Amino acid sequence: MSITAKMEGFIEKSSWIRKMFEEGARLKGLYGAENVFDFSLGNPNVPPPELFQKTLMAVAADNPEMIHGYMPNPGYPAVRAKVAAQVSLEQGMEVSGDEILMTCGAAGGLNVIFKSILDTGDEVVVPSPYFVEYNFYADNHGGSIRAVKTKPDFSLDLSAIEAAICERTRAVLINSPNNPTGQVYSRESLEALGRMLEEKSAALGRTLYLISDEPYRKIIYDGVEVPGLFTCYRNTMVTTSYSKDLSLAGERIGYVALCPAADARDALLGGMALANRILGFVNAPALMQRVVGELQGVTVDIGEYARKRSLLCDGLKDAGYEFTVPGGAFYLFPKSPIADDVAFVRLLQEEKVLAVPGSGFGGPGHIRLSYCVADATITGAMPGFRRAMEKAKD
Ligand code: PLP
Repeated sequence: MSITAKMEGFIEKSSWIRKMFEEGARLKGLYGAENVFDFSLGNPNVPPPELFQKTLMAVAADNPEMIHGYMPNPGYPAVRAKVAAQVSLEQGMEVSGDEILMTCGAAGGLNVIFKSILDTGDEVVVPSPYFVEYNFYADNHGGSIRAVKTKPDFSLDLSAIEAAICERTRAVLINSPNNPTGQVYSRESLEALGRMLEEKSAALGRTLYLISDEPYRKIIYDGVEVPGLFTCYRNTMVTTSYSKDLSLAGERIGYVALCPAADARDALLGGMALANRILGFVNAPALMQRVVGELQGVTVDIGEYARKRSLLCDGLKDAGYEFTVPGGAFYLFPKSPIADDVAFVRLLQEEKVLAVPGSGFGGPGHIRLSYCVADATITGAMPGFRRAMEKAKD
């Protein structure tokens, strides 16, 4: 045996993404990349804004002594102060640089949070469908995910969340705008969630945390609001990144922000700083910290994603697909016309259209389409989407 049985199991569990990747590569090899319509990956295709390139050049040219050296584990104090100013605006609450920890993306942030708050056997309640990497991250730290269904329009089902909370629960983890559904949770539902967590914490005699995974906060449409959570519930930590809103996914840069009013604020900040170090991240990439510090509030052209969303939604509606129009992120989660979403993904593959089965996100009976792709991919795929729908009806 070369790897652990557990890792073998994990590789098998994560095989959808790998299978899609392999199938995509095979089809592209056979038919040419331009004839394969790949909606399987959430890898942003809108380029970073011009200001990113300019800032990167300016920051790289500025070379004070020790600039490539180690730094405090939470990151450069000056960068954290700039991030805190932006977080204060988003949260409607004064947040200081001390409450910010720069991380290797939101994935790094989630691992740092879990490392700091999970004891072996602890559970994290997650509204489903959800980003399934959460299972691996929780497991890294002895915990597990307890998935709880959302309502048919993918909004929060508070009674289901409440019913899932037990003595082993340590946190509720939400992701809005959501991957894979594009759902944005309403202020009303988040305030109600905050009240419920307050009551449940008191009843259980144990602090329940609210973790908000927000890499899509700025990718929103039609003026939808992404409410700040610090005013809804004080034991909240937000994690996010610049992967999606600045298209810097490969640069691995993000942060965690802790609500200043959280219980055990100092212990949590100390724990997360140490977690950043001992998980092997040590600190978030130095050059990128300095760059994003200058780009607070700047995003890629969200209008590009809005246009792609319309192209895809209009085309699929015409072809007879049913879906909830996403308020944010760049994913669409249509119903599969047949109950077996895996079989439908195969029908799409026959048309050289690559999608991921909803089962891979805890949302069977659906498919996930990432529309961070060229417009030509969307328009070129429409005949295939239509044919697959017709075949499914036969
Ligand atoms: N959370 C969600 C919901 C995501 O969709 C992703 C990436 O796709 C991540 C976290 C990880 O993002 P990052 O690149 O910031 O680590």
